[in-house]
Amino acid sequence: MTDKNLSPKERLKIPPQEMPEQEPADRINNVDEVPFGYTKELAVKEASRCLQCKNKPCIKGCPVEIDIPEFINAIAEGNFNESVRIIKETNILPAICGRVCPQEEQCQRFCVVGKSHKSVEKAVQIGKLERFAADWEMENGESEKPEVKGSTGKRVAVIGSGPAGLTVAADVRREGHDVTVFEALHKPGGVLIYGIPEFRLPKSIVMKEVDNLKKMGVEILYNSVIGKIYSIDELLDKGYDAVFVGTGAGLPNFLNLPGENLNGVYSANEYLTRANLMKAYSFPETDTPIARSKNVAVFGGGNVAMDSARTALRLGAENVYLVYRRSRKEMPARVEEVEHADAEGVQFLLLQNPVGLLGDEDGWVKQAECIKMELGEPDDSGRRRPIPIKGSEFRIDIDTCIIAIGNSSNPLIPDTSPDIETNRWGNIIADEETMKTSKKSVFAGGDIVLGAATVILAMGQGRKAAESINKYLESGQW
Ligand SMILES: Cc1cc2nc3c(=O)[nH]c(=O)nc-3n(C[C@H](O)[C@H](O)[C@H](O)COP(=O)(O)OP(=O)(O)OC[C@H]3O[C@@H](n4cnc5c(N)ncnc54)[C@H](O)[C@@H]3O)c2cc1C
Repeated sequence: MTDKNLSPKERLKIPPQEMPEQEPADRINNVDEVPFGYTKELAVKEASRCLQCKNKPCIKGCPVEIDIPEFINAIAEGNFNESVRIIKETNILPAICGRVCPQEEQCQRFCVVGKSHKSVEKAVQIGKLERFAADWEMENGESEKPEVKGSTGKRVAVIGSGPAGLTVAADVRREGHDVTVFEALHKPGGVLIYGIPEFRLPKSIVMKEVDNLKKMGVEILYNSVIGKIYSIDELLDKGYDAVFVGTGAGLPNFLNLPGENLNGVYSANEYLTRANLMKAYSFPETDTPIARSKNVAVFGGGNVAMDSARTALRLGAENVYLVYRRSRKEMPARVEEVEHADAEGVQFLLLQNPVGLLGDEDGWVKQAECIKMELGEPDDSGRRRPIPIKGSEFRIDIDTCIIAIGNSSNPLIPDTSPDIETNRWGNIIADEETMKTSKKSVFAGGDIVLGAATVILAMGQGRKAAESINKYLESGQW
């Protein structure tokens, strides 16, 4: 284990530990996870870079406030079980968050080690350590079933089994309330299972986390679309004392380009759902067909765009162009995803924007017309505004196009429960602290409230909602 007596100066001299991963040339031929994870030795060494700051600035960057220095210290001391226990005090999905959280925007942004080196990339690799601890527990640890209090006889319906719904289910069940999760799809996990690809988040990990909930006695009903099988009023009439809406942002946005309805044009949601959830990567062994493409254009610069582009490579495309209207610096995707896409051969067409799609005589897409862009002053999002350069149009030959420019809230619940107030984007309005909606006994959180956001923010809202559901059920006061 590491020397406890290392001075801060000595700790600062230790470089960030790289996580071993599959070589790019190999990994584009399979869907296995790209990074292998830290070994024990690497994890202990990385943990020894932490300065154990008294005021723990990293915690303020974590939406669920994990005691980061404490869990890292436990790793440095080789006390891996203890480190998972500390993480799980506030985060029930560490193996997932360790893999997909935008750490460079959150905890690692505040790390004093990164600040000393004037580079967030040189911060303590908190996410990789979180992943190590969670994986270690799954493989070797004494995974304890979270404690559940005696039955209160109260019943809670959770709509949607994404990170928000799963978090609420765990925290409410802990207090002894009965929990039923209603999930529209045939598998649990929301975007974690249908959106984020296997090579970034193995589905077995999501299923293990869900198994813990089942062990606690949470019931999950699949193929159960609320708004179709029951309305929220019907759930309340059936004796549920509270309802949590965690239905996410599953409605794909389009660009409204000429030619967008040509054959071969997919929303990222459809493309990724076919590939991931319906395992089109092993067609014809599985029943799901997907385009066998040669030249693919992906429009967008977020995680969804990177996932689509990297999936297209793994499905055998020869050229995958990622068309993004700003520069690499403004891309909203996690840095690691951009680096991985780049290394795998995704061709970045930066400062370019699609203006139309052209098809052949059979109605299949064959070209994308794009225009070059330059950057102006920052816009409302804080990123520099892209401005088209007149007369700079050009065309690229493609046979598949994937639109990955974001998602909007799923409209079914607001449509079937009009007494739940929504904002102009169709997101449910919920009190920031209690996550109460305008409808008595109904709470909401995650992407359906935030608009397309992140796993950890969805979980953070889930925690707040669960706390106020538990209070509501105890006091009966709305
Ligand atoms: C491709 C992709 C990649 C992403 N990558 C990252 C990343 O790297 N890091 C990160 O932090 N975030 C990422 N995100 C965003 C993140 O996944 C979401 O912010 C998060 O999953 C939101 O959680 P949620 O629980 O609110 O909703 P969701 O995960 O969307 O889950 C909602 C669930 O509700 C179900 N549902 C919907 N309507 C109904 C209904 N009427 N009845 C019953 N069930 C219903 C859905 O089937 C779904 O299972 C990504 C998103 C996508 C699409």
